[in-house]
Amino acid sequence: MVRSTWAWRAAWGLALVLATLPARAASSLAAWRLGGDGTLELRTSPGVNAQAFFEEGPLGRGPRIWIDLPGAPLRPRSLPGGGALREVRIGRPDGGTTRLVLEFQPGVRLDPNQIRLVGTARDRWRLELVGLGGRPITPVGEGSIEAPSLASGWRPPVTPSWMPRPSEEPIVRRPLSGDGLPEVPRGRFLVVIDPGHGGPDPGAVGIGGLRETDVVLDVALQVAQLLQSRGVRVLLTRTTEVDVDLPPRVSLANQSGADLFVSLHANALNMSRPDVNGIETFYFEGSRSQRLARAIQEQIVAISPGSPDRGARPGRFFVIRRTVMPAALAEMGFVTGSLDSPRLADPGFRRRLAVAVSTAILRVLGGSS
Ligand code: ZN
Repeated sequence: MVRSTWAWRAAWGLALVLATLPARAASSLAAWRLGGDGTLELRTSPGVNAQAFFEEGPLGRGPRIWIDLPGAPLRPRSLPGGGALREVRIGRPDGGTTRLVLEFQPGVRLDPNQIRLVGTARDRWRLELVGLGGRPITPVGEGSIEAPSLASGWRPPVTPSWMPRPSEEPIVRRPLSGDGLPEVPRGRFLVVIDPGHGGPDPGAVGIGGLRETDVVLDVALQVAQLLQSRGVRVLLTRTTEVDVDLPPRVSLANQSGADLFVSLHANALNMSRPDVNGIETFYFEGSRSQRLARAIQEQIVAISPGSPDRGARPGRFFVIRRTVMPAALAEMGFVTGSLDSPRLADPGFRRRLAVAVSTAILRVLGGSS
């Protein structure tokens, strides 16, 4: 019922725009539909360029995906979502753009590495929401997606990828950008990033319920994006809140022929020891693993003033003992520490952690560390 109401309004709105304004001022978004299976479909004016963007929500907000299309909507609006989807907004960020925003509920995890907006015809686009983990979505949409397609002379458009650019809401956080990171030869390296724990195993739980699994997954996803921006291929041992046992993490790394393996964790003591804080990074053996651990330790310590430097040290953890490539395991702070915990809970600090870890990895790959 909701859908048909909106479909009627959208068709009416579009007719009005076409009647009263030059055609090119009108939004090129003709219809859109998000199905219960997590498939977003768009019908647009033929031959337009659509770009998709992704942003993790800050604490208390869910992630967002938005798509920018040429032409401004007549009527900026929002529609309530259902299930994993919190809200859909049709906005006008400037006089010439339509922005379709999908905002998800807090706690929803999406995998930006696996989500692509794909042109399926000159006037059709499709985006599959990967990583919802079975959380249902209440179908929602506007307009008729089934209108006849303009098939003649169609060639598939280039698939746009996620692009760093100004945030939907600039005050929230900066976009991911690899600017300033060390350069390495593009396409030559493969790195495995292992966010520790996941699923039923939250890892350490600290002050304010801060969970290690959430911290390390957020940092790991950002490290992956940053490395990819420098032309490094990345494998993640998990990309969502799932439980992966330790041996599969190691076999994934060993079978991939990766150049480096980095496992990300946060430390914990018990809640009665908020005085214990600090950074430590482990390696098992070998000078290249030691160099990797030292580089990561140095970078994280540099952005964690006051948090004790517990050093880069030998350790016997399974994932660094059984991996065949240079490997390190970073404990990026104590979720139970009065100094470390608020930092680890801060999205801005987690971004700096991602930059620090990426910098260390790129330096080691490039031979400058
Ligand atoms: Zn851990």
